[in-house]
Amino acid sequence: MNLKKVSINTALPGKARARILIIYTGGTFGMSYDKEGTLTPFSFEYILDQLPTLKSLALEITAVSFETPIDSSNINPEHWQLISSVIFDQYHQHEGFVVLHGTDTMAYTASALSFMLDGLNKPVIFTGAQLPISEPRSDARENLLTALDIASATDNDAPIVPEVCIYFDYQLLRGNRSKKVESMQFDAFDSGNYPPLAKAGVKIDYNFSAIRTSPKPTSLNLRATFEPDVAILKLFPGITKNVVSAVVNAAGIKALILETYGSGNAPTLPWLIEELSNAIKKGIIVVNISQCPGGRVVQGRYETSKKLQQIGVISGADMTTEAAVTKLMILMGEYGPSNAKTMIGLSIAGELTA
Ligand code: ASP
Repeated sequence: MNLKKVSINTALPGKARARILIIYTGGTFGMSYDKEGTLTPFSFEYILDQLPTLKSLALEITAVSFETPIDSSNINPEHWQLISSVIFDQYHQHEGFVVLHGTDTMAYTASALSFMLDGLNKPVIFTGAQLPISEPRSDARENLLTALDIASATDNDAPIVPEVCIYFDYQLLRGNRSKKVESMQFDAFDSGNYPPLAKAGVKIDYNFSAIRTSPKPTSLNLRATFEPDVAILKLFPGITKNVVSAVVNAAGIKALILETYGSGNAPTLPWLIEELSNAIKKGIIVVNISQCPGGRVVQGRYETSKKLQQIGVISGADMTTEAAVTKLMILMGEYGPSNAKTMIGLSIAGELTA
């Protein structure tokens, strides 16, 4: 896919505070209403018309945009490869990165990028908007301006937030801990199992102890190979054997995320245990993720999760489904299923608490 490039040096004639790369992928942020009243994407070249304040930031901004910006419901691993390769190629030329992305799948893309950008030591801040920037009450302006501020923030010459995050509605969240929780109000994201990394008010208050810093200077390594044959099965009271069987026996399936109740519980139905056990024996990785946005899976705590543990279902601890599914795809693609099975329960980018 081709990318369109726009450079905006907002510091001239002075010296820029930092060089920031914006990657514009689409989403509500840049949409405007056409004659029929449907939201369609605008071209990023016109950003200064919508947001003249950008000129007052002392930043050297380069913006690259998808040739055809997309609604994030159409995002797929090829787009993740594109976004991560742009960051990888431009890593040393920029101090920080801002990714403008639709909110619907932002938590998936932010999770994927956190696993793909191994050894990341610079900010990659995702943001977007619930209302297009062309609207008077839009949240797009504040979200972008503060995301740029965070992407360029340093302390003793080191980036304050050297990880993949989502900035939205005055909160900075770890990307692979985030979930879209709201589709109408501005507070679209939450990270139930991890505290916000910062809150933006009159000033930006960073939660330094929650921010993940690289233990030592590492070089960036790109994990860009995906194994896409992953499924998610959400349990519900009354789920039938036919449904479970169809999923675990789907052609090519290599891993399954089982979305369970509470702290990792499932019905004790013998056929369910048998279907899952057969799948595991065939080499399918089965990971237990809770349907609760807060708390964690503790297999064996109740009778209803003991059997899962016994047959070899892996606890996903306090991971989100968004993190688990992208992590499985990347770990299996990069290291093969048997290594992925060992690594899935370990934290590789701050996505779970062991
Ligand atoms: N459907 C849009 C998208 O995810 C919603 C948004 O951006 O808020 O691209």
